[in-house]
Amino acid sequence: MAGLPAYVPGRKTPGAIVLASNESPYGLLPSVAAVLAEHANGVSRYPDMGATRLIDAIAAHHGVDPARIAVGAGSVEVVGQIAAAAVDAGDEVVFGWRAFEAYPIITAVAGGSAVRVPLDDTYTHDVDAMSAAVGNRTRLVIVCNPNNPTGTAIGRDALLRLADGVPSDVVLVIDEAYREYVDPVAVPDAFGLLGDRPNVVVTRTFSKAYALAGLRVGYAIASPDVAAAVRKCQVPFSVSALAQEAAIAALGDGDEVRRRAALTVAERGRVAAALRDAGYDVPESQANFVWLPLGEGSAGFAAACAEAGILVRPFAGEGVRVTIGLDTENDRLLEVAQANRPVPAR
Ligand SMILES: *Cc1c(COP(=O)(O)O)cnc(C)c1O
Repeated sequence: MAGLPAYVPGRKTPGAIVLASNESPYGLLPSVAAVLAEHANGVSRYPDMGATRLIDAIAAHHGVDPARIAVGAGSVEVVGQIAAAAVDAGDEVVFGWRAFEAYPIITAVAGGSAVRVPLDDTYTHDVDAMSAAVGNRTRLVIVCNPNNPTGTAIGRDALLRLADGVPSDVVLVIDEAYREYVDPVAVPDAFGLLGDRPNVVVTRTFSKAYALAGLRVGYAIASPDVAAAVRKCQVPFSVSALAQEAAIAALGDGDEVRRRAALTVAERGRVAAALRDAGYDVPESQANFVWLPLGEGSAGFAAACAEAGILVRPFAGEGVRVTIGLDTENDRLLEVAQANRPVPAR
């Protein structure tokens, strides 16, 4: 247990501008608020353990058989369920680094050992190095696309090379937590591209674009056999009835979800351009955040933001992840960034 890394959540301080956890800045969808009120009394009962209506709604959304869907309390838990199903003590889990900080924790909890494959010099997954890192003990490969915290995404060719490079008896998880913010031409839907491969699992969440981070719902789309195994590894009743109802309602409010995502994408472009003008290196982001690879300057930048009442997510010695917020919040962030320009490397 002493060696198990602790997840570092984005900070919460009353009154602060929170750009630390990649949440939607637009708040609960109004259509979902009404549904929550309607079902509040139901919380004295256990939820539908099979999440039947939610699974049917997700399956219909993707045009697949419900047998291919498994849900969990957030897609972090779903990735944990996949690891619980696939990884035994001493097995290896391959993922890029830096990627999502939950992956080393999930790996260790499953008893596996993590094989971290460095991102390339554009802060992007190096799929050839990832395939090369797969060995006899590898049970799982996880690719975060787009990647948290760097925002970079791999496109069609790299996804196909990775899928071809992972043996068919190794599970390949493609974590698409930020799918709604992606340029669909540059980054194909992994399920559409690779959904016919039995070892490929795509995970999605209601926590980001669907604005339900606090209710905890995510899911996997997998082959029926893998989905059945992932379902068996779910903690019973982990997705509450309120979460199930909210997710069904949010899925039905696609126009509003897309409208909000488009606002975020437009703001992402504006923020990235302004930061580059101010001298920052900003990798091309396909998510609802940008990555500032400030190295040793990361902690200082985050402290300057905190001083101005803005919470961002620093990774000491590496960089700072800044969530795209409301336009007024982004303006405040840009003011701080402009007042604390990076010292050019010589
Ligand atoms: C936010 C995030 C998730 C989703 O987390 P939930 O458990 O669904 O809230 C999954 N993967 C990555 C990479 C994320 O950043």
